[in-house]
Amino acid sequence: MKIAVFSTKTYDKDYFETYNKDYGFSFSFYETTLNSDTANLTKGYDIVCVFVNDIVDDTTIKILAKHGIKLIALRCAGFNNVDVEAAKSHSIKIVRVPAYSPEAVAEHAMALILTLNRKTHKAYNRVREGNFSLKNLIGFNLHNKTVGVIGTGQIGATFCNIIKSFGCNVIAFDVKENESLKKSGVSYTSLDDLFKQSDIISLHCPLNEHTKHIINKDSLELMKKGVMIINTSRGALINTADVIESLINKKIGYLGIDVYEQEENLFFEDLSEHIIQDELILRLMSFPNVLITSHQAFFTKEAMIEITTTTLQNIQAFMSGEPLVNEVI
Ligand code: NAD
Repeated sequence: MKIAVFSTKTYDKDYFETYNKDYGFSFSFYETTLNSDTANLTKGYDIVCVFVNDIVDDTTIKILAKHGIKLIALRCAGFNNVDVEAAKSHSIKIVRVPAYSPEAVAEHAMALILTLNRKTHKAYNRVREGNFSLKNLIGFNLHNKTVGVIGTGQIGATFCNIIKSFGCNVIAFDVKENESLKKSGVSYTSLDDLFKQSDIISLHCPLNEHTKHIINKDSLELMKKGVMIINTSRGALINTADVIESLINKKIGYLGIDVYEQEENLFFEDLSEHIIQDELILRLMSFPNVLITSHQAFFTKEAMIEITTTTLQNIQAFMSGEPLVNEVI
């Protein structure tokens, strides 16, 4: 069976080529994302392998089905970019990598908090220029602060345990409560109460119809003045225009984002010689209290090995007719 890999970066290719030695699959690597305009490239393949910003919508899936694609292998956990019902209606199976490294993402959320708070990114640049002044570098102790965690699955739970060790009071909201977190001192509360009580809010729920724009004008209204908001989950959890408004009126004190609603046109690319047209990201980039990373929370050596080997195992299971343990149903 032939496999077309989309959104390929050199590091993806390197990891696949290294670990494919045990499998011998036939891969073709495309740098372009998969979407309805590029789906014609899938002619002659049996399987497509995609990542977070490939748009596998109804139109794309119709083209995949016409070309005889039988499996969509996601090399990520989230599957909000795939029309699951459309795939089902064409009998195309979907597999994913459900938990390649919750630590990678949770630790990155922590990195965003510590950087925004203690301003190490600014201190680094200052000292390199011989500026040893502490002016405007003041932070706050994390100890005794209330941290609200929305979504306490694999990543959220790992994040709760990390931030608890900083002496924070951790409160959480999830549609399904995690009993072992409760035993360790995390208390679940309503979403509104979490918004009201938290000094720091970290988003770890999936993007779906219930969570889209969960951070919006109304929820921002409930929050403490100077709140820190961290998003390492999916960009559309945040209404960017509302957040910009709250940065301007100083309701939000700090914003750390690894994901952005319109990231597919920007992230993972070197655009340093281009004129960026996205007005919202340009505005976000202009605030001194906003830290943006380009969807790199997953990007550790350990996670890349797990992503690659699980994807290869998912494909192997499909080819040999074994049960698909990581199927998206
Ligand atoms: P998970 O499925 O283990 O956990 C998600 C949790 O969110 C579950 O406990 C679920 O009950 C909860 N949830 C569902 N609907 C909710 C709602 N309406 N309100 C509150 N909670 C809700 O997933 P995970 O592995 O912890 O990943 C979480 C998200 O992180 C993924 O969906 C993905 O979008 C994102 N992610 C980002 C990166 C990155 O590099 N930035 C990497 C991996 C995953």
